[in-house]
Amino acid sequence: MAAVSDQGELVLARGEGAHVFDEQGRDYLDAAGGLWFANVGHGRVEIAEATARQLSTLASYSTFGDLANRPALDLAERLAGLAPMADARVFFTSGGSDSVDTAVKLVRRYWSELGQPQRQVIITREHAYHGMHLAGTSLAGIPANQASHGSLDPAVVVVPWNDAEALERVLSERDDIGAFFCEPVIGAGGVYAPPEGYLAAVRDSCRRHDVLFVADEVITGYGRTGAMFASERWNLDPDIMLTAKGLTSGYVPMGAVVVAGRVAGPFWTPQSHPVLWRHGYTYSGHAGAAAAAMANLDILERENLVVRVDHLQHVLGRGLAPLSTYDVVAEVRTGVGLLTAVDFAPEALAHGVPARVLAGLRQRGVLTRLLASGALQISPPFVVTEQDIADLAGAIDAAIKDAGGVARTPIAVGHEEPDLLPQITSDEGVDAFDDDHYLRDRPPHHG
Ligand code: PLP
Repeated sequence: MAAVSDQGELVLARGEGAHVFDEQGRDYLDAAGGLWFANVGHGRVEIAEATARQLSTLASYSTFGDLANRPALDLAERLAGLAPMADARVFFTSGGSDSVDTAVKLVRRYWSELGQPQRQVIITREHAYHGMHLAGTSLAGIPANQASHGSLDPAVVVVPWNDAEALERVLSERDDIGAFFCEPVIGAGGVYAPPEGYLAAVRDSCRRHDVLFVADEVITGYGRTGAMFASERWNLDPDIMLTAKGLTSGYVPMGAVVVAGRVAGPFWTPQSHPVLWRHGYTYSGHAGAAAAAMANLDILERENLVVRVDHLQHVLGRGLAPLSTYDVVAEVRTGVGLLTAVDFAPEALAHGVPARVLAGLRQRGVLTRLLASGALQISPPFVVTEQDIADLAGAIDAAIKDAGGVARTPIAVGHEEPDLLPQITSDEGVDAFDDDHYLRDRPPHHG
């Protein structure tokens, strides 16, 4: 509430592509993609119309027991086909935190069904963010997110975020571990891409110790890393994959837990020996939400937006990398899709530089936020243009200067600086895009 006591709220009224507009008509580049969800961009009438059609036919009904609706069935089928795991099954939720809760309960129930009920403990990582429900709060690797919330789930072990051997040690020493929860790229905790070889090593450890590998792809799913799922990019073959956000690009709330056939197996029993899993949400398989998700996936596929991300990650990397020469900047974390952060030096944090940079950006018509670590979140919609990215880099550069940042060496933000490029993948398909499609005339920023 302190945030609104002085200036009041910034009230957003409209969105179009990678931009949103406030009630006064001011134009902001949406550098955060809403809250990492606006993958196909704002103002997609096609999704609104598909949702409206479904809402006016059958908005929703319970999907408990044998009840179903056609959009939910179609979407489940489509997700199972897209999922980077064999014989996938889908459990629908209302969002990411629901997906995390569902997965924790599913893991424990799975091991009970297999006669190993002692496998209750979930391993999580430092910096991890797994949503705000009590299960996700218990799994938080961001201490501030756990503070003052009373007793949390004690059956949780935290390991360092980047040390595969630390996980291997825990798995070798204990027989009560049910699953390892892992964001392939840590998001809200500060945007940390996995160190080289880390994901392959932890995946292998889990497999050898027969511990379920749960990929939390609530941010990384549906294209943000330049592959449909990060699990695909790193060949993870997860046992369970958690999604939300980009499933509908935020047009309506929805999440999905995708479960590999081998884990779903114990729940698919004959009628003579039913496993009754007493778990489900009022809006699991909401027909209107499923229709929105189908229209969203149509756009993602038709416009080749995942390939576009694979290309734009290079453009964003080149655009932002020179900012690391500022004394107030500790690190510019780019290189994996449209999922990046500009992190500030500890002294800059102590002097309130990040908040001043954020305010300066807003004045320049760029909307984003600071992560728990104090880093600036940069995760625009996939339809962001190369010109938008150049404007964004220029705006951050100017806002850092205004906040007192001094460049250690002369820089030219917005120009290509190949020597500063971080770890990237190929830039195949670079010519495949006609940026004009996404460009439009906009008035200059004011405010
Ligand atoms: N898991 C991860 C990795 C997330 O980033 C988030 C939200 O940012 C969640 C879970 C929770 O999702 P929701 O906010 O939709 O409940």
